Amino acid sequence: MELCQLTAHELKDKLVQKEITATDILDSCLQRVAQVETQVKAFVTLTEESARETARAVDEKGDYRGLAGITCALKDNLCTKGIRTTCSSRMLENFVPPYDATVVRKMKDEQAVILGKLNMDEFAMGSSTENSAFFPTSNPWDLERVPGGSSGGSAAAVAADEVIYALGSDTGGSIRQPAAFCGVVGMKPTYGRVSRYGLVAFASSLDQIGSLTKDVTDCALVLNLISGYDKMDSTSVNAEVPDYTRFLVPDIKGFKIGVPREYFQAGVDERVKEVIKQALLKMEDLGAMVEETSLPHTEYALPAYYIIAPAEASSNLARFDGVRYGLRDTEAENIIEMFASTRARGFGPEVKRRIMLGTYALSSGYYDAYYLKALKVRRLVKEDFDRAFARYDVLAVPTTPTVAFKIHEKSDNVLSMYMSDIATIPINLAGVPALSIPGGFVDGLPVGLQLIGKPFAEGTILRVAYTFEQNTDYVGRKPKLGVN
Ligand code: GLN
Repeated sequence: MELCQLTAHELKDKLVQKEITATDILDSCLQRVAQVETQVKAFVTLTEESARETARAVDEKGDYRGLAGITCALKDNLCTKGIRTTCSSRMLENFVPPYDATVVRKMKDEQAVILGKLNMDEFAMGSSTENSAFFPTSNPWDLERVPGGSSGGSAAAVAADEVIYALGSDTGGSIRQPAAFCGVVGMKPTYGRVSRYGLVAFASSLDQIGSLTKDVTDCALVLNLISGYDKMDSTSVNAEVPDYTRFLVPDIKGFKIGVPREYFQAGVDERVKEVIKQALLKMEDLGAMVEETSLPHTEYALPAYYIIAPAEASSNLARFDGVRYGLRDTEAENIIEMFASTRARGFGPEVKRRIMLGTYALSSGYYDAYYLKALKVRRLVKEDFDRAFARYDVLAVPTTPTVAFKIHEKSDNVLSMYMSDIATIPINLAGVPALSIPGGFVDGLPVGLQLIGKPFAEGTILRVAYTFEQNTDYVGRKPKLGVN
């Protein structure tokens, strides 16, 4: 196996043993990028030079603590000082932030080797990465299929072994859904666990940064790195961050796993259901108690999300007006025209749709009927989870109703695209943590098993996921892409 195909913890062992250097890892990843990137198209920006400098500096110091010296990349909505941060939008095509997001600063402090910025749906709105204003990314398992979205570049880059791990953001499923489609491990932490400072806001009450990794151990390592209170984010929570690797124990005897039946209803592919059923039988074999349960308000989560998320987006995206930063139409005759034409040119169709939806839902006369109502529904969805977690340690459901779909298959059908997040959106509304792990395969395509936990119980999720990983062989399977 090439170095780029290994996990962060395997590489870390080799670094510590002085068998390899950070530069070796970077070289291997760069070679892989040269082989497969024209097919996968995961990167918006490559930062080879600065990655080389960091790798050289780590090797000189020879101190490989944490994730030092491991090659990784970032979704392009995380602000990087001096490196453009586009959100895959024409609006920010040439935007170079003057500061680093808190998670980026943490990675730099640890001397992570950041190889670049990854493609996404414009402003993180979408489920296929087809909404990127630049180009679509392909799924490494089948280049004619989408990698999922909106963190499609992050999932594809990890699945294709172009980088060892990546960061993404998840507002309604954007880490877990692409992780499921690309056969990698994706974690959306509890709302407030990770600072959002420097993450370009989509829907602030739902957005959370998380990881895309090749296995569960790497997920724990990245969570260790990015978690924690930050005074720059008033919604980050000042709670102790455990060492998440302590939860990597292959034992779930006596664990109570709830399986909400609403996640297996109409629209879920029978083959996906079967894979999840088998995964649950495995958990039972391993000594867990698996029981059907109900989250009765599940069906209202998607409609509530498509009021709340666009409402917040319409407000967050008001800042892109051609005045402050980003694109400006310099030909407009007056300022009102300048606002309008800048936004008309800078935003793609899905972003415009969200802004219109959100502005409508917030307008006077409709505010109570739509926005306020949606907030009440959100509370009911959250209470479903509270009740379930009084009984269960984790909940287990499919991450997505289907395996990765074909490029263009849903791009003209907005509602069917929205439906692909039906199993991930309730989790964001409730603010709880969840992880997607490869749970099996259908016709050679990965299926995601989603494990949902109590607030701040990422450790419990990791333990269940780790036990499953250690007792199955789905994690670590590689797509037949390029030279394997
Ligand atoms: N697909 C969902 C949406 O389009 C979720 C996106 C996300 O999590 N960023 O809003």
